[in-house]
Amino acid sequence: MRRIADNISEIRERIHAFEQRYQRPADAVKLLAVSKKQPEALIREAFAAGQRDFGENYLQEAEEKITALADLEINWHFIGPIQSNKTRSIARLCQWVHSVDRLKIARRLSDQRDPALPPLNICIQVNLSGEDSKSGVDPSATEELCRQVAALPNLAVRGLMSIPAAETDFQRQRAQFQRLATRFYRLQESFPQFDTLSMGMSNDFEAAIAEGSTMVRLGTALFGPRI
Ligand SMILES: *Cc1c(COP(=O)(O)O)cnc(C)c1O
Repeated sequence: MRRIADNISEIRERIHAFEQRYQRPADAVKLLAVSKKQPEALIREAFAAGQRDFGENYLQEAEEKITALADLEINWHFIGPIQSNKTRSIARLCQWVHSVDRLKIARRLSDQRDPALPPLNICIQVNLSGEDSKSGVDPSATEELCRQVAALPNLAVRGLMSIPAAETDFQRQRAQFQRLATRFYRLQESFPQFDTLSMGMSNDFEAAIAEGSTMVRLGTALFGPRI
């Protein structure tokens, strides 16, 4: 089996190559290691290789890992769907939440975030493909939600996140990401603090980097298949 350290350095090299290929500044793209359904031992290996940002989707699994890995200075990102009875724990344990798509959830996260802690970093999840089954705010309602969330204390809205419809064609992948990026750049005029465009997964991160992603969320490309 390949070592995680090798995967991480190979992925970092690919990210750098894509930054160059698409005229992005060096280090414009951050790597979020999506560790859902991966054992703690692999997270420790990735941490030892220099990785500091990890993403989890399922709260109970996240709670167990965050507790077991409390000796490591990890930035934990919650990237899964959020039910309102889960916000307290997320507000306590995570540094980032990428999957905020309604005001009710944002209000609870803000109310439940300890004001003594740094603000919880938030990305607003946008439903690009308009599929009913997918989470995310409707694109037309995104600006209003950003405005409401930006007004809440204890949160720092940092930008947008999306999971576009699965697509294998590179140009079509780019077209979807371009729609999110256009929205992001427009919002930056009203929200100059926006610095995070969370888009790109294992099968489409080149297209996402080409279109302006600042954070790619990679699971299987880093860790292999989930258990
Ligand atoms: C699982 C997941 C990822 C990682 O997916 P891979 O295809 O394994 O890279 C990224 N973002 C979200 C929101 C996910 O749920």
